[in-house]
Amino acid sequence: MLNGKTALVTGSTSGIGLGIALELAKQGANIILNGFGDHAGPKAEVEALGVKVGYSGADMSKPAEIATMIDYANTEFGGVDILVNNAGIQYVAPIEEFPIEKWDSIIAINLSAAFHATRLVIPGMRAKNWGRVISIASAHGLVGSAQKVAYVAAKHGIVGMTKVVALETAQTGITVNAICPGWVLTPLVQKQIDDRSAKEGISVEQATKELLQEKEPSLQFTTPEQLGGLAVFFCSPAADNVRGVAWANDGGWTAQ
Ligand code: NAD
Repeated sequence: MLNGKTALVTGSTSGIGLGIALELAKQGANIILNGFGDHAGPKAEVEALGVKVGYSGADMSKPAEIATMIDYANTEFGGVDILVNNAGIQYVAPIEEFPIEKWDSIIAINLSAAFHATRLVIPGMRAKNWGRVISIASAHGLVGSAQKVAYVAAKHGIVGMTKVVALETAQTGITVNAICPGWVLTPLVQKQIDDRSAKEGISVEQATKELLQEKEPSLQFTTPEQLGGLAVFFCSPAADNVRGVAWANDGGWTAQ
């Protein structure tokens, strides 16, 4: 279904981003990976699906590096047809103790990076009159939780930006949507479970159970594969007129 298209997935050396890259590659899309840490392993995993795979080590908190990444996509892949704004970080503390530099980096990586990547790919998508921008927001793009002031602000910002860009492209073949996952068991969440286990002096197993019970009625994690499947749906013709939605995939978290 996506043969000949190129998907750039930010923050795809791990977790949800890698899961989405794999599902898009299964549909035939060429993939540009991005993110920190080991990239050779994820690159080989996606290449095994028979598509062309590139990598950019752009730091998503730096607009100039984002521009270099898009230039690379244009030169080496003929542009970005599908942009998945996924790179993100978390930090947990009450507002009066929230470090200023953590606020700045969460806003830069979780929100401003999506603005920069999106503004840079829209002209190429307009020229082809086809494109997909899919931003990974969060249940925290729809509701708040204590101690996550920067994250919740950034994710609500993603949902707002999604609506605006969807309106600006409403009469084109470009669609712009957000996915709002509940808990997904990735390194980002494992750290919160480990912190909770240490702080409360309980086992990791018990901390995992409590984390789910607190927010997620299904008591189940959403998987990166499921989120990849939703991204594939947004790329399909069935979703040609799905514009500006913030689609929860959260086990009922935001239905409460
Ligand atoms: P993760 O920690 O497994 O992966 C994050 C990815 O982003 C990694 O590839 C990392 O290298 C990359 N990254 C971090 N900072 C970067 C930077 N400055 N420049 C480039 N890449 C950078 O986390 P995850 O859980 O897979 O999270 C992915 C996205 O999904 C995030 O936006 C997160 O907010 C969102 N999300 C996660 C959950 C969850 O429960 N895990 C729930 C809702 C939303």
